[in-house]
Amino acid sequence: MTKIAVFPGSFDPITVGHVDLVKRSLPLFDKVVVAIGINDQKKYLFKLEERLHWLREVFQEEPKVEVGHFTGLTAHYAQQIDAHYLLRGLRNASDFDYEKTISQLNHIVGEGLETIFLISQPAYSHISSTIVREIIKGGGDARPFLPDQVRVERVV
Ligand code: ADP
Repeated sequence: MTKIAVFPGSFDPITVGHVDLVKRSLPLFDKVVVAIGINDQKKYLFKLEERLHWLREVFQEEPKVEVGHFTGLTAHYAQQIDAHYLLRGLRNASDFDYEKTISQLNHIVGEGLETIFLISQPAYSHISSTIVREIIKGGGDARPFLPDQVRVERVV
């Protein structure tokens, strides 16, 4: 059986923390689909096309990684692409509290869909897309937190 995992997120933008998580997960799965979940209620800093473009660039040398996007429930998307696993990262206790509930719901809605958690490495546990967006909006240099392929010139 092919072991497929979905790594769902907003990736607004993708950070070095996300990349590290995906790379560490590769020995566990045959395929990892890094997928942008589109939520109409949410306001994003970067357009979907731009975020997808970055994901494709970042993982173009990784044959086991595919890039996707979806609307609706993550659990339904996983079923559509025959993924039996979700991948998520845990940086701290508040990630855990939030992720625990979502994982329990996904197990029910996804009919046995399992979430595999990787604890972030200490070097990355302070990095979040939210912080990176704040740095960018404030005109700061976010390069230390971004993969080389993500070049953010200027945001209006
Ligand atoms: P969401 O909008 O679903 O929170 P994100 O794109 O912010 O999506 O994050 C997707 C996943 O990546 C989450 O599981 C999050 O915990 C994990 N993640 C984010 N930043 C890091 C990091 N620095 N180290 C490890 N995991 C991370």
